[in-house]
Amino acid sequence: MAEWDYEVFWKETLKQIRQDLGEEEFSVWFNTLDYIRADENSVSIAVPSSFYRDQIKLRYQNHIEMTLRGLTGKDLSVLFEVIPRKMTEPGPVPGEAAEKTAPDSPKNGSGLAPAPQKPEKKARHHQLREDYTFDNYVIGENNNFAANAAIAISRNPGTAYNPYLIYGGVGLGKTHLMQAIGNYIHASSDNKIIYITAENFLNEFLQALKENKMNVFKNKFRYTDVLLIDDIHFFQEKVQVQEELFHTFNTLLDAKKQLAFTCDRPVSELKKISERLMSRFEQCLKVDLQPPKYETRCAILKTAIEGQEIQVPGEVIDLIGKNVSTNVRDLISALNKLIAYTRLMGQPITVEITQQLLRDVFASPRQANMSLDHIQRVVAEYFSLSPNDLKGKKRTQNIVFPRQLSMYIAREITEYSTTEIGQAFIRDHTTVMHACKNIEERIRSDPTLESTIETLKRMIKEYSAKS
Ligand code: ADP
Ligand code: MG
Repeated sequence: MAEWDYEVFWKETLKQIRQDLGEEEFSVWFNTLDYIRADENSVSIAVPSSFYRDQIKLRYQNHIEMTLRGLTGKDLSVLFEVIPRKMTEPGPVPGEAAEKTAPDSPKNGSGLAPAPQKPEKKARHHQLREDYTFDNYVIGENNNFAANAAIAISRNPGTAYNPYLIYGGVGLGKTHLMQAIGNYIHASSDNKIIYITAENFLNEFLQALKENKMNVFKNKFRYTDVLLIDDIHFFQEKVQVQEELFHTFNTLLDAKKQLAFTCDRPVSELKKISERLMSRFEQCLKVDLQPPKYETRCAILKTAIEGQEIQVPGEVIDLIGKNVSTNVRDLISALNKLIAYTRLMGQPITVEITQQLLRDVFASPRQANMSLDHIQRVVAEYFSLSPNDLKGKKRTQNIVFPRQLSMYIAREITEYSTTEIGQAFIRDHTTVMHACKNIEERIRSDPTLESTIETLKRMIKEYSAKS
């Protein structure tokens, strides 16, 4: 209802808060908020995740409500709704930058009319993938801090969050996020940016050594404004290049240049890295990426099909989102497999085809992987224990029984071997076999146990579908 349209007030509230907090803090927390609606007593605002909701409530709810009250003269409460979404470009910068032409662009200064459809754009950065932008990056609670810090960095490289390090398992979006930083800075400034994998950094280093061109190598990496090095775990055991990186690191940081790294594990778990380079990595703002939850997985799938001439029913998105939970790379490749197959066969995408075609993907132990952890959580909670109790050493009956039950259920509903299940409980396979036997005997003597097991299985499935 127009009567309760407070959007203008919301915008003004944001303006004031931006002044109160300063650009940097504002951009971390407020760029992802969207006005939804209002009624007599409240204004509803979309936040990308429950992490955001909780943090903003904790830090800023009062501030927001006071500001809004000052503007409207009404006692409105502000409600936050979690709506995972595609990240919008932070601010007007890239659009403006599109007007500029890179110095090395072939058309620069030629006076030629811009290309017919698009205004002339700055040439892409040759080391960066054009599609790895913030615009294509979906945020959810698994990655919102990492993404927003990346945005803050992109806006003011070399100031906030420097040096920066993103870590997390394979396929979770580390490279995408790093390159998005590069693309954004490239589009919005004349800063010199180098993106390189650790492996190529090493290769160039060795080449320079061989050709006696260390000076060229040093100058290349020490006279850049932004240095992005991907997959630094690769530097483990590579002593000589670590030394070089250490000096590069210091030179750039002294000159207030932006450094960012990615790594497939927490820095503390890196091995064979020199102590002083290690202390530099430790000095970074370290942010981890987690596998996305179900809602975010669906949002990622929807983003991936945007702009493609393809109809993917909502149920299919849902089905893939529910069943592929390991990482974003698996998620996208499941979708691509489906699209490629149906295109080839000239068939529409349906739930049946998806189930058939992705049967192996859905049932793969890697997907079930998540559920060992889920099983432990759900069973532990059911018996008022913690998952660590199940993995721990205690042998009291109140823990041994739930532990054995978890192993039994794991055997029933996943494709894991007894060895793999054992590992999840920090035990060997004979313990798992013994547990299964024990539970089977108990079921025979206590028929009610069967229904407890069914209940637990259902709870685990529900839990897995939600997470
Ligand atoms: P990593 O470097 O962590 O192994 P990548 O950055 O290569 O992972 O990501 C794997 C794939 O998943 C890429 O195609 C990337 O674009 C996509 N991807 C990862 N995270 C997201 C996200 N949050 N939103 C959209 N696509 C994503
Ligand atoms: Mg990567």
